[in-house]
Amino acid sequence: MSTSERIAARQINHRATGSDDLALVASRFAVAITEPMQDLIDPADPNDPIAKQFEPDVRELADNPGELHDPIGDEAHSPVPGIVHRYPDRLLLTAIRVCPVYCRFCFRHETVGQQDNGLLSAAELETALDYIRKHKEAWEVILSGGDPLLLSLRRLQKIVAELNGIDHVKVIRIHTRIPVVDPERITDDLVSTLKQNKALFVVLHTNHPRELTDAARHACARLIDNGIPMLSQSVLLKGVNDDAAVLEELLRKLVENRIKPYYLHHADRARGTSHFRTSIKEGQALMRQLRGSISGLCQPEYVLDIPGGHGKVPVGPQWISKCNSAIYSINDYQGCPHDYSD
Ligand SMILES: *Cc1c(COP(=O)(O)O)cnc(C)c1O
Ligand code: SF4
Repeated sequence: MSTSERIAARQINHRATGSDDLALVASRFAVAITEPMQDLIDPADPNDPIAKQFEPDVRELADNPGELHDPIGDEAHSPVPGIVHRYPDRLLLTAIRVCPVYCRFCFRHETVGQQDNGLLSAAELETALDYIRKHKEAWEVILSGGDPLLLSLRRLQKIVAELNGIDHVKVIRIHTRIPVVDPERITDDLVSTLKQNKALFVVLHTNHPRELTDAARHACARLIDNGIPMLSQSVLLKGVNDDAAVLEELLRKLVENRIKPYYLHHADRARGTSHFRTSIKEGQALMRQLRGSISGLCQPEYVLDIPGGHGKVPVGPQWISKCNSAIYSINDYQGCPHDYSD
């Protein structure tokens, strides 16, 4: 394990210490926060949206009906360690299972940060790459995790170079939280590792406008200035961003920084996360409000990952309903219905 990978596993210094229940939370689920995120927390605010995302909470111990160890069914679609192949044209390569922070609502709540570092062994990585080489339909490879930007540069370089060498892989996508939670890691060396001829997209996980600090925005700009397009994904979280004004600020700030909002995820049913979940109805109402008030460039797709491994589908508000065979009724953003016929 490199020094950088070791630092990532350091423990959180949370405010509420000394509680047996919190110790139990920390023994069941990994806990970590980075300095930049710790610095953003307002200690005087009991409802701080940054603290909520990273500080362990006794509610994580609750046994809630419907919550699952593997809420999105990754395990059923994992042919070899490190590969999740659920859709024909794209697959996940999870080469590392640690993160710089541990989000309390994580869809892999019980599986990230559990072993030492969750790194694939050299042999496992070779088997995973072989799987990709053999599956000619794999047009896109998504590095997910854990956080793939925590891999040592040498390992990341190797993976990117190997993927570059596979003809049928046309697109590489990296899902990460690093530019926001640890922007100093976006170094020139990292940028040049990612900068290569195959299309490579970085998808940033960020949930609250306050996370987009000057340092975070500069880290993103460094990637984008080097020809790496960026998208964002956010999780809809009760008490963090389930508010039209907060979402609006986040989505605008992303676009102002050349990051295109991609997905707004309905929170997955991972164990001990029910205190974060809104209803789909609430999510739809927020999306309906956003449709009218912010630019189309700022609109993410509101998606649900169907429990059981059935994939992600949009669950946003309905704008169209069929009246009869030829006439549709379509609502505008203010809620007024209009007839339309083919
Ligand atoms: C989310 C996910 C993808 C990517 O889905 P997109 O809709 O293309 O963003 C691919 N494979 C798995 C297993 C996933 O969970
Ligand atoms: S960064 Fe992603 S994988 Fe890691 S804890 Fe947060 S949500 Fe989970």
